[in-house]
Amino acid sequence: MERSLATVRKISNIADHTNSDNLELAYVDGWQCVVKRGEFVEQQLIVYFEIDSWMPSIISSFLSKGKEPKEFGGIKGERLRTVKLRGEISQGLILPLSVLGSDRVVAEGDDVSDLLDVQKWERPLSAQLAGQARGYFPEFIGKTDQPRIQNQFKRMQPEHFADSYEVTLKIDGSSCTFFHKDGVTGVCSRNLELKTDESNEHNAFVRMYRELDIEAKLQQLGHSIAIQGELFGEGINGNWEGIKGHKFMVFDIYDIVNQRYVDAATRGIYCTVLRLDHVPILNHDTTLEDFGSAQDFLAYASRPSIRNKVAEGVVFKSLTNPDYSFKAINNEYLLGGGE
Ligand code: AMP
Ligand code: MN
Repeated sequence: MERSLATVRKISNIADHTNSDNLELAYVDGWQCVVKRGEFVEQQLIVYFEIDSWMPSIISSFLSKGKEPKEFGGIKGERLRTVKLRGEISQGLILPLSVLGSDRVVAEGDDVSDLLDVQKWERPLSAQLAGQARGYFPEFIGKTDQPRIQNQFKRMQPEHFADSYEVTLKIDGSSCTFFHKDGVTGVCSRNLELKTDESNEHNAFVRMYRELDIEAKLQQLGHSIAIQGELFGEGINGNWEGIKGHKFMVFDIYDIVNQRYVDAATRGIYCTVLRLDHVPILNHDTTLEDFGSAQDFLAYASRPSIRNKVAEGVVFKSLTNPDYSFKAINNEYLLGGGE
């Protein structure tokens, strides 16, 4: 799922900034954004840009603070990060509808990312990870990205609140997929299938594929499945966990024949049979009774991870529908240099 980076939204409310008379806090769904006092009013339709939006200078030159703008994807601009402004957290950017041009008719919910040339900033893959591609990521394997709780909360229906969830620790590395289909096995980074020959002998994904003996194990098992997990460690995206070497931990198993994710119990059995580690499970079966707002999920996400006192976040996955999941990213992680 593509993230909607720039959308037409409504400011739900505006509150005082505790440390500044010139600033206010504007809320857009579950997001808090610091704005200039008096710039916006409650219920106003605006364009909201989520964190990680690559903001073209042409619509927000002020973000470069007088410096030369940076460049990403051929566009000069700046990346929206989580920041604290005079002690209050600020995520994303609010601009008036006039950024869309004067005569454009828009409605709440419209995605205007393409219109404004806003792309998602992505951390470039390091040399260790890039590798030689065999092809694109196979189209027969599911590719999901969990929505963030700040966007998801208002969309949650009574049945979602009545459901039970598995909660896992979100590990900060790089997404890695091993698969077997009709006698063919392979390994993929987030967007590509990689060659498994000598040309990739230094590639971290391919090395893990070999180290874990994936080809033999999956051939022996014979099921058409994709094992999705996080590869993390030295040289991978800053090694947030600070471990020596590399580790792979499973978070999803996709049933290629039936085109759906297997349930949590089946995933556990596969991990045991294939002798693979699983991401830490914080709760095998929880209700959402204690979660009354996006803030409550964020408070829960503020916790330590395996080796770092600040976790990247947590992932909630429905126990009745493994396709339904969402994530809560720890704000301390975002403020502390995590990406
Ligand atoms: P993001 O890193 O914000 O793009 O979030 C999605 C990614 O988180 C997935 O593609 C996985 O690579 C990664 N991830 C790490 N830990 C987990 C987990 N416990 N459950 C699901 N995804 C995870
Ligand atoms: Mn990630």
